[in-house]
Amino acid sequence: MPIIRVALDVPLATLFDYVVSEEARLEIGQRVVVPFGRKQVLGLAMEWAESSELAPERIKPVTRVLDDVPPLPQELLTLLHFCSDYYHYPLGMTALSALPTRLRALEPVTLKQALDYTLSAAGRELDMATLPKRRVVQQRILQALQQSPLSGAQLRSLSPSAPGALKVLIEAGWVECVARKAGPHLNPLPLAGEEAIVENHTFNDAHALTDEQRRAVDAVVQQTGYGCFLLHGITGSGKTEVYVHLMHEMLQRGGQVLLLVPEINLTPQLENYFRSRFPDVELVSLHSGLADGERAQNWLKAQAGEARIVLGTRLAVFAPLPKLSLILVDEEHDPSFKQQDGLRYSARDVAIFRASQRGVPIVLGSATPSLESWYNAQSGRYRMLKLTQRAVQPATLPIVRCMDVSKLPLQEGLSEPMLTAIEARLQRKEQSLIFINRRGYAPVLMCSACGWLSECKHCAGKLVLHLKGRTLRCHHCGFQQRVPHACPTCGDADLKPVGIGTQRLEETLQSRFPQARILRVDRDSTRNKGAWAAMRKLIHEGEADILIGTQMLAKGHDFPNLTLVGVISPDGALYSADFRASEKLFAQLTQVGGRAGRADKAGEVIVQTAFPNHPLFQALRAHDYEIWAQTLLAERQMAGFPPFVYQALLSAEGKQLGEVNTFLQQARGAAKDLQMPVEVYGVVPAAMPKRANHHRAQLLVQADRRKALQEFLRAWKPTLDALPAQKLRWALDIDPMEF
Ligand code: ADP
Ligand code: ZN
Ligand code: ZN
Repeated sequence: MPIIRVALDVPLATLFDYVVSEEARLEIGQRVVVPFGRKQVLGLAMEWAESSELAPERIKPVTRVLDDVPPLPQELLTLLHFCSDYYHYPLGMTALSALPTRLRALEPVTLKQALDYTLSAAGRELDMATLPKRRVVQQRILQALQQSPLSGAQLRSLSPSAPGALKVLIEAGWVECVARKAGPHLNPLPLAGEEAIVENHTFNDAHALTDEQRRAVDAVVQQTGYGCFLLHGITGSGKTEVYVHLMHEMLQRGGQVLLLVPEINLTPQLENYFRSRFPDVELVSLHSGLADGERAQNWLKAQAGEARIVLGTRLAVFAPLPKLSLILVDEEHDPSFKQQDGLRYSARDVAIFRASQRGVPIVLGSATPSLESWYNAQSGRYRMLKLTQRAVQPATLPIVRCMDVSKLPLQEGLSEPMLTAIEARLQRKEQSLIFINRRGYAPVLMCSACGWLSECKHCAGKLVLHLKGRTLRCHHCGFQQRVPHACPTCGDADLKPVGIGTQRLEETLQSRFPQARILRVDRDSTRNKGAWAAMRKLIHEGEADILIGTQMLAKGHDFPNLTLVGVISPDGALYSADFRASEKLFAQLTQVGGRAGRADKAGEVIVQTAFPNHPLFQALRAHDYEIWAQTLLAERQMAGFPPFVYQALLSAEGKQLGEVNTFLQQARGAAKDLQMPVEVYGVVPAAMPKRANHHRAQLLVQADRRKALQEFLRAWKPTLDALPAQKLRWALDIDPMEF
């Protein structure tokens, strides 16, 4: 009987053998339910085998073959193999973690049927003349539906407010939903306006491309086969427009396009944006914020080749895409492309592998590329495409000024020039954004008598003062306690908040500018579902004067009335132990600065720093990423850091520090014994040496070549798996971003 090798979600590096009866008609890539121990579990059929190492009587039969959805394509299975090998993570866990939750369940997937909207009997009899004239969108929808039933996407293309109008029409009983008839919509809607119908989709061609944009688009569309492009474009240079034109081209060729974005908060906005440009093209998003059913449905639309544009966060890199013809990675430098637990993959790197495996172009876009990508473009492995001008003409880059806080007096963390600049914006009815990367009221509470600091007893971190509920909270483990009335050490009642967080800044600015409408955007104020969307609306409608925000506000949002960005206390990154901290800071400040002055108003960025002459700020003032990248590359080369070396980080944590260290020392000994051309560093505490009562330490290994590191890891991993580590959690992180 044929033996099928199945991937299971268990921490072992092997596949598992089962038999399957002839009539079960199993195909590779199908999901199966199999017995494992005493349980029934879900697995993925990976390959057939001639024979098994198990004795025939010990091989159990597959319980059930799930044929609810088509088998996963071989291409995806190959990608999973690659990820498992490269990240040294068990194949079964790799495979299962790539699947949407619904496809990991033991039950078959049931999906909602695709729906069309059509006029009801009442709707067909309705006299349009009786409708109020103001209801333009409702009128338009009814008129369109008189011609033929339409999908939600097609109706949305009529107007951004179509969903609301549709709801009213359904409630009035004029429009109803019906199950879609098989087959594609043959006649795309003829629409008013500037769009042109090209072959089989509508393309709202909003802008004539600039020369630079044209060159970038041409270079990519002329590429045959795999090629990796680095699209380096300053903020506001119109990278998105380049993506749109590339999508258009690939859609015309009948292909699918995958667009990866870093931030889940941005996906609804981007989704709407791309829908407005391609109103009748099927577009789906894939991210962890979707309900399980919707995510499975979108995944299957991608797999069926029906969804032509797939927009998603890092997990979307695993979506099956039979017609994949282009991958776009926006903000490719963003650390959130790297998963920090389980399969610690970099979606950008996996995307590059995927493009090369498939033989299609990939475009990495950023205003501040990662040094890895920049270096690859410099050395010719990637092709560089540059956008050096802002796309909308009067919009120029903001003026960046540094305020030397070692010389200027500060009031609650704010310098006078900063306050004056904010005041000027208030008078001109423009918006200011004050950027600070610390939420809460103050980073720590201190006793002025004995110097006691509020520390988390479970972590090596400080408890942050939050005024709401008067609590001290640990941002690492979630521990909270009420603010003590007196110092726990000396009993003195004079406890003072030290440092500044978003809440304190809000309080300070509110008392200084009592009339100003201040909006604080951080993880605390946006915790409730929909809160962030509501705030964004307020900002757009000009209902907020001063925005106070953490990095959430920095990414990708376009606020035309914003003309001032203030940056408070960014200096920590300049002397951080993390060698990537200054690279990240430059990217962050460029991005947040890019929010200022995007429309017809000039923007200004004010940075409060004690090191105004630091090369980072010099480059920031000159808007010169290249100089900065050169400086950093020189430093990294001197110090022997990536991208000049390749790293793997073994980290471990446990309740007993001794056990953690013993494990890592044994791992280190085993690594040394291999005598391979890699550098094995010493065992050191993690940057956060204790978290939630677990001690954390790590061991770094690096090599000059990726291949040497991989060979070493292949030899080392089995010994790691064999080390005693019952009470520990450990993980191997390839190309680590966090230490
Ligand atoms: P980036 O992603 O590079 O920061 P965007 O793609 O958001 O820049 O573009 C910035 C602004 O410029 C947007 O408002 C966009 O509509 C506009 N834009 C882009 N390309 C053009 C063009 N060729 N002509 C006119 N406006 C453009
Ligand atoms: Zn004290
Ligand atoms: Zn803690």
